[in-house]
Amino acid sequence: MVDDLYTAQQIDLRARARDLAETVMRPVAGKYDVEQTYPWEVQQAIKHAGLSGVWIPKAYGGLGGGVLDLCLVVEEFSRACGGMGVGYAVNALGSFPILVGGTDEQKERWLPPIAAGDKLIAFGLSEKDAGSDAGSMATRAAKDGDVYVLQGEKKWNTGGAVASFNTIFAVTQPGRGARGISAFVVEKDTPGYRVGKHEDKMGIRCVPVVEIHLEDCRVPVRNLLGGEEGHGFKHAMVTLDRARPGVAAQAIGLAQGALDLAIAYTHERKQFGQSISSFQGIQWMLADMATQVEAARALVHHAARAIDAGHKHITKLSAMCKVMATDVAMKVTTDAVQLFGGYGYCKDYPVEKYMRDAKITQIYEGTNQIQRLVIARSLLREAAGAGG
Ligand SMILES: Cc1cc2nc3c(=O)[nH]c(=O)nc-3n(C[C@H](O)[C@H](O)[C@H](O)COP(=O)(O)OP(=O)(O)OC[C@H]3O[C@@H](n4cnc5c(N)ncnc54)[C@H](O)[C@@H]3O)c2cc1C
Repeated sequence: MVDDLYTAQQIDLRARARDLAETVMRPVAGKYDVEQTYPWEVQQAIKHAGLSGVWIPKAYGGLGGGVLDLCLVVEEFSRACGGMGVGYAVNALGSFPILVGGTDEQKERWLPPIAAGDKLIAFGLSEKDAGSDAGSMATRAAKDGDVYVLQGEKKWNTGGAVASFNTIFAVTQPGRGARGISAFVVEKDTPGYRVGKHEDKMGIRCVPVVEIHLEDCRVPVRNLLGGEEGHGFKHAMVTLDRARPGVAAQAIGLAQGALDLAIAYTHERKQFGQSISSFQGIQWMLADMATQVEAARALVHHAARAIDAGHKHITKLSAMCKVMATDVAMKVTTDAVQLFGGYGYCKDYPVEKYMRDAKITQIYEGTNQIQRLVIARSLLREAAGAGG
């Protein structure tokens, strides 16, 4: 990274995040991957380092950073452990709807404890039968006096088992399609809110991904985001535009981390009486991997800067950076395993974990096929003169 392109706060954040990643996360990444348990010691270390609310405005106790600041921190965490990177980033995903759509009172109520690292938040959009087509969700919220009664199930809720708050999307006006969806912040002790099945995952194993059951779950009316029905889907889409660079940053961190390991290993490993890094075939692979990571990082940071500058048409850029960085992560982590030969395929070395952790980045927050649809739609709209 060329430091001149970043603010003093961004350079400082990156250094602090790298230090935490190397001293606290990397030493325990393998243990939590095997145990598939949540690393509370890491969450506490992030809190004590003052990095919990990087993206939250100073008025609500955060550091007032933008999406680029968030990306820098997520990349460093993910370079040590992809699971710990997303375990942190999901709090931005869960709290962006409050930032983009909440009332001042709601921001005052929920953002300070998240910024302080005292409370965690999750994001509940997807359902068993509503993934790519999230707008077809079945969860319902019916008003009954001063509460909404929520009925339904959310699937794939990252961090849901450890979060105190969950941003839940539900249909308040059936028959109105996406315009009938509203967003609620549901607190974990609300009667009728229950954490269900824990998924047994290929990667990002330290962060729990769970089902959330909403059974006559009575949520106060004042927890309806923005205080008006029907804006939930729009809040979800604006949130995803802002959050996708975070997934992309996770992907770059994983790719960079795997590349670091591959460079060190190919230097040490000897075959035919010499270090394998002396073979041109290996050097070209390393060169391509590094070039791809640098190109992906540049696009992610460009997208993040556009968002932070308040650029109007960010959907296409956000999707582009997610597609590119996550495809690069899959390619680079797979090539890193290749460079370790047979040892790369075994769990004695950490490199296979990078490949497993990378796969999910091509799937969540909208699969890469869906991102390509989003990009193509923007291109065609632009061609028709309607803006990106
Ligand atoms: C580990 C994990 C964590 C997650 N965390 C969260 C979370 O915290 N919150 C949350 O709300 N969701 C979360 N998700 C859900 C995730 O966003 C969805 O899995 C994803 O959007 C895809 O939905 P689906 O799994 O139902 O796949 P489907 O939508 O059924 O798609 C199946 C396949 O069809 C393709 N496809 C679908 N439609 C089209 C189309 N029109 N054109 C071309 N191809 C298409 C998809 O790209 C995919 O390859 C998580 C998922 C996982 C696995």
